[in-house]
Amino acid sequence: MEKGNVELKMPPDKASSSRLPVIGLGAKRKLDKENAPEPEKKRIRGPGTAVTIAISHPRVPTVATMPRAKKQEAAQKAPLKTGPWHTTAATTDVKSRKPVSTTSAPKPVSGVSPKTARKGSSKRPAWDVKGQLCDLRKEFSACQVQTEILTRENRELRSQFGQTEQQAKTLEAENKVLIGELTEARAQAKQDQLELGKLSAQVQELEELLHTQEGLVQSLQEERLQLQGERRDLAARLEVQEAQLQESMAALAKSQAEITTQAALLAERTEHLHGLEMERRYLHNQLQELKGNIRVFCRVRPALPGEPTPPPGLILFPPGPNGASEPSTRLSLTRPTDDRCSIIGGLPGPPLRYDFSFDRVFLPGSKQNEVFEEVSLLVQSALDGYPVCIFAYGQTGSGKTFTMEGGPGGDPQVEGLIPRAVRHLFSVARKLEAQGWSYTFVASYVEIYNETIRDLLACVGGAQKCQGTEYEIRLAGPGSKELIVTNAQYVPVSCEEEVEALLHLARQNRAVARTTQNEQSSRSHSVFQLQISGKHMGQNLHCAAPLNLVDLAGSERLDPGLSTGPADRERLKETQAINSSLSTLGLVIMALSNKEPHVPYRNSKLTYLLQNSLRGSAKMLMIVNISPLEENFSESLNSLRFASKVNQCVIGTARANKK
Ligand code: ADP
Ligand code: MG
Repeated sequence: MEKGNVELKMPPDKASSSRLPVIGLGAKRKLDKENAPEPEKKRIRGPGTAVTIAISHPRVPTVATMPRAKKQEAAQKAPLKTGPWHTTAATTDVKSRKPVSTTSAPKPVSGVSPKTARKGSSKRPAWDVKGQLCDLRKEFSACQVQTEILTRENRELRSQFGQTEQQAKTLEAENKVLIGELTEARAQAKQDQLELGKLSAQVQELEELLHTQEGLVQSLQEERLQLQGERRDLAARLEVQEAQLQESMAALAKSQAEITTQAALLAERTEHLHGLEMERRYLHNQLQELKGNIRVFCRVRPALPGEPTPPPGLILFPPGPNGASEPSTRLSLTRPTDDRCSIIGGLPGPPLRYDFSFDRVFLPGSKQNEVFEEVSLLVQSALDGYPVCIFAYGQTGSGKTFTMEGGPGGDPQVEGLIPRAVRHLFSVARKLEAQGWSYTFVASYVEIYNETIRDLLACVGGAQKCQGTEYEIRLAGPGSKELIVTNAQYVPVSCEEEVEALLHLARQNRAVARTTQNEQSSRSHSVFQLQISGKHMGQNLHCAAPLNLVDLAGSERLDPGLSTGPADRERLKETQAINSSLSTLGLVIMALSNKEPHVPYRNSKLTYLLQNSLRGSAKMLMIVNISPLEENFSESLNSLRFASKVNQCVIGTARANKK
């Protein structure tokens, strides 16, 4: 770089305002490789273009440290500080060092240029040497002045050159600093570029992430839209449901009010129903009393296959006063003609006819349900708190067990009184529950053979095993009037199935006994007892009564043809025991009927056990079973006579065991 020949160009706008060199931040940037004009370019000037020397005027404050605003200010102020040389003399070619007059160049003091001087001399005639000399002198003095001016100017230029050189040095130092800064800036730029690369990668990564996130956001937005739609739907549904709920609440409130009314009505009706139930019990009992607390039914079994057909007219069933439509209550036995009578008298004797009347007579074709229909009223009485005893009386084979337990094969059509009564009890008890009654049932089943008690509910084979066990009739507890059999099973039952299982167990126990103990079953009394107790919490009522269903031992009398052998002696003893207990039963019933002070309950185990079910407050039914066969005529007649006696008995007004 040539000293003093440096022109730092300003941007056009700034250059227009001042041609002074302004070194500032912009100038620095122009020094960058890309922006800096090529050195040659700097030197090349167009033809006629004056070389501009930035003659330094008093040094502008250090550019690099001057704030931009100040730099501009300085640039604007600069021309003011410069002398005339700085503005116009700048056009002077320093190399030629010829004073070039410009419009603004200072004129010689004389105000006459040498040219002008010569011009004046040319007008002088050749002979005017003096004039010419004068002119020359003038020219000379002008030249001298000019020389003086030029010398001064030269001095000034030199000093300016020194200054410019100084300035160039300063600029060079600055340039070095700038180069250092530039290097630093480049290093920084490289680092920045690296960072930029990293950042670009990061940006790309972030852009990808953003893309993914945008996708996610979009799907979430879609989901949101969907959910919003669903929410709207749900809100609409909720609104509908709320409306429905309101309606339901209103309906519920209405219903509750109705329920309250109905509950009051129900309570009233329950009370009324209870009154009616008590009235029904009272009327039912009155009806039973009118029918008689001791009732006797007669049932004639049909002739079984293989048995001889009974002669016609042997047993007749005369219609009642109201005709055949009425249930039969009468029965006639006609003894076949006695051959001996006819021989003795020479004429056949008149047939002997025995008429009997009972509360009800069941013909051979009668079904089990017909019998139960009549019995069910008594079963109802047991639920109402009246002790009930139902006996099946008759000779062996007359149909006692069939009537009480039922026929073989488990056919429901031939079910006996015990299963039917139990089912009826449970069903009525369930219905009474709705009226506030709750019932409990306890079953026992014992057999009395030869005045010995055995438990039919002992486990299978138990009857044998328990042979040594003592079964005694005792009071249930101190102060209690209830009688129980010691060591016997008293099983709480709550449904028919449980009772059926007990009956099955009893049958098994009896079957074992039959094979080992010589047909004891028909020679013993079996007593199925159901202790019924009911309570009405609301009314604080309690009732308890036993229902006894007794299958009595065969009533046949002692066979006069029996020998005195040990087996026959045993049979004799057996029969006597049976006859004794059956006659005791008859005596007890009669004593009760006649209101005798002494009732011989203790004369037999059967009456002793059943005493609470026979006395005053009890209701009793005897079903006399009759065989239709001619060969059983005598026994049938005996049974009917016994039953007839019982039928004439009336036990005092029954009272329910109520507390
Ligand atoms: P008991 O117990 O008096 O000795 P059963 O009840 O054992 O007499 O009856 C003897 C036989 O007669 C049995 O086979 C029984 O099935 C049958 N039997 C009894 N009564 C009837 C009846 N009403 N209908 C049909 N068969 C009967
Ligand atoms: Mg029997």
